[in-house]
Formats: sequence, C-alpha cells, structure tokens
Amino acid sequence: MVALRGATPVFVDINPITFNLDPKSLEEKIKEVKSDGKLRPRAIIAVDLFGLPYDYEAVARLAEQNGLVILEDAAQGFGGIYGGKKATTLGHLGTTSFFPAKPLGCYGDGGAVFTNNDELAEIIRSARAHGTGGHRYEHVRLGLNSRLDTIQAAILLVKLKAFPEELDSRQEVALGYERALVGMVPSAPAVPGGRLSSWAQYTIRVPAPWRQGIMEYMKSRGVPTMIYYPKCLHCQPVFASLGGRSGDLPVAEKASAEVLSLPFHPYLSQKDQNRVVEALFEALDLAGQGKLSQA
Ligand SMILES: *Cc1c(COP(=O)(O)O)cnc(C)c1O
Repeated sequence: MVALRGATPVFVDINPITFNLDPKSLEEKIKEVKSDGKLRPRAIIAVDLFGLPYDYEAVARLAEQNGLVILEDAAQGFGGIYGGKKATTLGHLGTTSFFPAKPLGCYGDGGAVFTNNDELAEIIRSARAHGTGGHRYEHVRLGLNSRLDTIQAAILLVKLKAFPEELDSRQEVALGYERALVGMVPSAPAVPGGRLSSWAQYTIRVPAPWRQGIMEYMKSRGVPTMIYYPKCLHCQPVFASLGGRSGDLPVAEKASAEVLSLPFHPYLSQKDQNRVVEALFEALDLAGQGKLSQA
C-alpha cells in the first residue's frame, strides 16, 4: 500500500526474539533517511507479527520525537494485548484482516480499520467506497472498492461471539507447545511481560540447513508446517528498484531462513498436538544424526 500510494517504503530490521520491528533499527533508519534528505519520513507501519503486539512504548516514543504517525498492522494481532491496550488501538490507526487464516477470519476476504479519530474515520469511510463525499454520487477523493461484503459481515458477527473463547483456547494450545518445548532447542516463542499474543501463528526456529528436511519428514508423518515468510520484503522482486540487497537486514534474513510454523488453531486437540510434537522431535533427532536431507 505504501508504494501504491506513491510513497517509498523503507525497511527496518526486526528483533530476533519477538520477530517484530526493532526500535533500535527504526531509530537508526529514521536518522539515516533524514540526513540523506531524499525522502521525508511520514509514518511507521508496526506489525504485530504472529499475533504478538509490537514494542509499542519504544516505537511510540520514536514516533513522537520524529513527528511520525503509527499505523498498526494488526492483521495477525487482532485479540492481542499490550499493557492493557488491545491490538488495533496501538497507533493512530490500526488495521486488521479477516482473511480465513487470521485469528478472526471470515470465509473470504475482509478487513477493518480502527481509529478513535472522527475525522480520520470519515476519510476512511469515504475511501472504502470510491471516495464518495456527502452523497453517494459525489466523489471527493480517489477511493477504492473496499467494502466488507454483507455475507462476510454476517459470518463475522457470529464468529465474533465465539472469539473470546477461541482466544482463551489459543492460550491453552500455546501453553501446550510451550510445555513440550521446555529446555529444548528450538525453544518456544517468547512473549515479553505485559503482552498477550493472539497466536496467529506458532513459530519456532530450527537450524536453516535442517529446515527443509524437517518439513518433509513432518509432512510424511501427516503434520503440515509452513514458512512465514521465505523471502524478506527488501529482497522481493517488486522492490528491486529500491536497491535492497541480501545482507541489509541480517536479523530478518536469518529469521526468514530459520522460522517454522507449527499447526495451530483454537480447536487443536491435545492428542493432535502430541502428534505434532512427536513428529518434530523425531525430525530433530534424525536431522541431528545427519539422516535428513540438508538444504
Ligand atoms: C494477512 C496480512 C495482511 C494482509 O491482509 P489482507 O486481508 O490480504 O489485506 C497484512 N499484514 C499482515 C501482517 C498479514 O498477516
């Protein structure tokens, strides 16, 4: 969206523990962009990756110091909490996605924007329906066809009722994995104090050369796994013209080579979870003995 809007995205590195935007890298990048003078920093997009709310305090301080707006991408964070504040409210604007794979999913495409600023709310309402003005066939800005289908809204109304319960179940499932992974390498994902993850994904790290073999072995045991995400944004072909190179954001690139997401949903039974953990431990054993194919 940044590029579609005609602005230039500038990518910053992540924190290796939380997988979220690293405030130190953000601070350095803001300084660099300002002193370079070609671009004018305007906004920070802070993602609640895998469901864990981003480092709100540190990022909000930098936003304040530099006169920047925070857009919280809570597509995965919906349901998460930071210091008593709900994800989607940790910025000037928050967004979420109701794509089926998200914590609150509909049966197709959907999403929402959150703000407590009436002026912004009016602009967003207009932008989502072809930039309409005071009445339907007057257009005051360039807009989109971004309405939420009635059928999806109806599904969401029902699923929203079950959401608090599902959020609790997600904590239980996460706890199940955490117990299984105690003292193990890979370790369970960390949740810093004062934060609640909505566990959009349950993502661990495995040694990069082992990952492909582990995934194949687990698949042979009927356990699907996924890589979120195999290629960093600064290395994507679409942004080649920005000059990003492999090595620019080493922490994100290392994570991208090591991450592995395990099956996760609020209805995952103890029995199925045990099967996942067993297959993972077997795969790790075999990889350790050099018996799985290496990337
Ligand atoms: C899924 C996702 C999006 C995109 O959501 P859409 O519904 O496809 O627009 C954006 N950001 C993150 C972090 C996501 O996980």
